[in-house]
Amino acid sequence: MTIFEAYNHTKQKLKAAGIEDSVYEAKIIIKHITGLNNSQILTEYTKELTEFQQNNLTAILRQREIRYPLQYILGEWDFYKYKFKVGVGVLIPRSDTEILVEKCCEYLQGKTEPKILDLCAGSGCIGISLAKDFPDSAVVLLEKYPEAKRYIDSNIELNAAFNTLAVMGDIFEGDAGGQPYDLIVSNPPYIPPKEMAITSPETKFEPETALLGGEDGLDFYRAIIENYKSSLKDGGMLAFEVGINEAKCVAELLKNAGFVNVDITKDLNSIERVVTAIKE
Ligand code: GLN
Repeated sequence: MTIFEAYNHTKQKLKAAGIEDSVYEAKIIIKHITGLNNSQILTEYTKELTEFQQNNLTAILRQREIRYPLQYILGEWDFYKYKFKVGVGVLIPRSDTEILVEKCCEYLQGKTEPKILDLCAGSGCIGISLAKDFPDSAVVLLEKYPEAKRYIDSNIELNAAFNTLAVMGDIFEGDAGGQPYDLIVSNPPYIPPKEMAITSPETKFEPETALLGGEDGLDFYRAIIENYKSSLKDGGMLAFEVGINEAKCVAELLKNAGFVNVDITKDLNSIERVVTAIKE
């Protein structure tokens, strides 16, 4: 099978498995198994795959047919401007979450040595991106589960983000203690259990502990607002990613807790995705 035939075969198999972005994904898979970049593929498309490459392609397609996430297969994914290691036990970074990072960057612009706390940090993609963009910042990443915490540690290494500290902890058990922060950011689990059925098949391979946010999806927002308000400086910002139809409720929770400048930002699909607020 030539590279070109493999590409067409991959596209077709992915499409048959119900994968929407089969063209984009097929390109990524062919690049992965051949180790070639875009321009090399264009010049070498008539080259035969080796047996090893062909076996790898078969293995990847079998996994994708049952909708095992491509990100877990590759073991690495781009998020915002950086690369992150991902695998079983950690939530896959989503492009929607880049909006949250951008809102945080706007707020941090011009601040010197800002202190940042990323709660329910998962792969660490939010906190590490901020640490890289603001090298004079100090970022603490809090994560409850050891499987995910291991990914934070390797992502800190991968990105050489040494102005970070990864700690294990549970947001329901109190604040981070110690220093007040300029920014507390979180993309907590927020899916109500009744909506799990309508998430993508790939999501069913991700840890439920990173997805389910209690009966109405809002448990983590309530706990973070209650337990971490005292860890924010006056004028500090709390920034959340939220699930579909949750923005107004989260904005209300923030207002009731005395936060000001409560602001909602939409993602690229026009879904209200980020809620930010300032501690007076
Ligand atoms: N955005 C993810 C999804 O809908 C959920 C992530 C989360 O719960 N924080 O699949």
